[in-house]
Amino acid sequence: MGQPQGLSLNMNKGDIMREKKIEQYDVVIIGGGPAGLSAGIYAGRANLKTLIIEQNLVGGLAVNMNEIENYPGFPEGMTGKALMDLFYQQAKRFNVHFRFTDVRKVDIQGDVKKIWTFRDTYETRVVIIASGGKPKVTGAKNEDKYLGKGITFCSVCDAAVNTGKKVVVIGSEDMAVEESLFLAKFADKVILSVNVDSDKMNCSEELKDVALNNPKIEILWNTSVNHFEGNNQLEKVVLKNLKTNELIKVDCRSCFEFIGYIPNADLFKGMVDMTENGYIITNENMQTNIEGVYAIGDIRNKFLRQVVTCAGDGAIASIHAEKYLLRNKAFKNKRMKVEKPSITLIYNSIEEDQLKLLKIIEKMELKLKGRYFFYTIDIYKAKGFLAKSGIEKVPTVIVSKNEIEKKLSDHITEEKITRIAEKL
Ligand SMILES: Cc1cc2nc3c(=O)[nH]c(=O)nc-3n(C[C@H](O)[C@H](O)[C@H](O)COP(=O)(O)OP(=O)(O)OC[C@H]3O[C@@H](n4cnc5c(N)ncnc54)[C@H](O)[C@@H]3O)c2cc1C
Repeated sequence: MGQPQGLSLNMNKGDIMREKKIEQYDVVIIGGGPAGLSAGIYAGRANLKTLIIEQNLVGGLAVNMNEIENYPGFPEGMTGKALMDLFYQQAKRFNVHFRFTDVRKVDIQGDVKKIWTFRDTYETRVVIIASGGKPKVTGAKNEDKYLGKGITFCSVCDAAVNTGKKVVVIGSEDMAVEESLFLAKFADKVILSVNVDSDKMNCSEELKDVALNNPKIEILWNTSVNHFEGNNQLEKVVLKNLKTNELIKVDCRSCFEFIGYIPNADLFKGMVDMTENGYIITNENMQTNIEGVYAIGDIRNKFLRQVVTCAGDGAIASIHAEKYLLRNKAFKNKRMKVEKPSITLIYNSIEEDQLKLLKIIEKMELKLKGRYFFYTIDIYKAKGFLAKSGIEKVPTVIVSKNEIEKKLSDHITEEKITRIAEKL
């Protein structure tokens, strides 16, 4: 991929001596998986000064996939790495900056948000959280001992070394079945341990049939891992039949676990709203409860976690962030010397009456676009706005030109707004 991998591990003396830097960006994206890269493409293309911070490999989880067959536009499918390389190249084409290090701390409450890595600090008005997730483990006895020594989460990385051997796969969803089918191309035997009955498996019927008809795959229903055995390397997975308590010893040097993911959300705990499982809650524009902070991709509480939905999330977040920055800038720079006056509506979108006012402003915008700038600020979404702006009443319409500013909070009508605007 041509990216500088493992920078923090390969620092030379000059790097270590270098003073810590503070850099400013419009948008900082935490995580360079499919979601972060998609957001980067849209933000970069919108001419926002954009940084992606990635602690590992550009492309995130997708890099490990041997084949992605369901990403539109590639009828023959392609490897995750090849697809991610295209995302990466496209982000670079739009001048997205990259840093290969981990984000250690964030302060995302204020208007100017701060992000700390080992060496540097980044200041930004928009943070897009795209930190994805990490694989769940079974928690069975001795699992820690064999992580990386036989227990793996990546079939594309470890399939070839199991050519002609027996492997165990743990999991009961589509992902476990898909990966078992892939592993069956290399291994002689794939033992798939599923912790429920056949009719309760959370997997597509079509996929299940393909696995059941593959002579190399044996599915052990109602089993879970009891413990792992071996010396320096995994040698046995001991499964337990959950109905009979019978222990089943399977000799193998690799056990592939596909039992789900845990969101990488620790950095943001107590700051952004999350589900009890740690997924970040957003609205349809990918906004979190904090103004200027978005969450996209697998870290987000959503229905479908796939590359294609990551791309959609990234696009929406960046386009919304662009509007947010514009609005913020317009409001902050209201003292700027602009010839054209602006009309700003501050409203609450959950109040029906105020939505009527929004319609009036939208109608005015259509009519008077050339004469005025129009802005709308929904305080329901931009929760911190009121405190910072000094606006006391909602709804309020602010008509401003250069340093003159008129506020209208009572009985707001199109006629009143127009009258004030014409006098400025
Ligand atoms: C086995 C498997 C098979 C799959 N098959 C398919 C498929 O066929 N088709 C499909 O569309 N999808 C598939 N998916 C789903 C797809 O991989 C995910 O939906 C997608 O990768 C999520 O992208 P993301 O950018 O949200 O997160 P990730 O891909 O998890 O990327 C997040 C990135 O953030 C980085 N990061 C985390 N914390 C920090 C930090 N503190 N500082 C800096 N960087 C950080 C991580 O290193 C990582 O690179 C599969 C997933 C798995 C596990």
